[in-house]
Amino acid sequence: MTTPHPHGSCLCGAVRFTVALPVKWVAHCHCTYCRRAHGAPFVTWAGFPTAQFSLDPTSTQPTWYESSPGARRGFCPRCGSPMFFESTRWPGEMHVARALITGELDKAPAAHVFYETHVSWLEVKDDLPKKSSS
Ligand SMILES: [Zn+2]
Ligand SMILES: [Zn+2]
Repeated sequence: MTTPHPHGSCLCGAVRFTVALPVKWVAHCHCTYCRRAHGAPFVTWAGFPTAQFSLDPTSTQPTWYESSPGARRGFCPRCGSPMFFESTRWPGEMHVARALITGELDKAPAAHVFYETHVSWLEVKDDLPKKSSS
């Protein structure tokens, strides 16, 4: 079941957000920035038009870190959960860490991107396309 406005939050619950469907895309990113920022072999992102993303009225503001020129990553200032990504490379999009969103979206992950930098110690066995450099 998909609800039209899925919710999500960081680990401690201080940063809370709502997104509106439809999601634009969902993909697994294997780039070195995502891997280091999240401490994970890859990060599954859900991309939304910025207008379909909102912080809840009582949410703490995320802290933003410029991870590369024109790109920034938002995380919870209390618990440190990495949550969001925005870049001038994808103007008008808010990328939200998929695992933070409760429940179903209207799209499943459709690709592995930046797969050329994937870790050697995790075997990806699905049939999704494996793309290089997005
Ligand atoms: Zn938190
Ligand atoms: Zn990435």
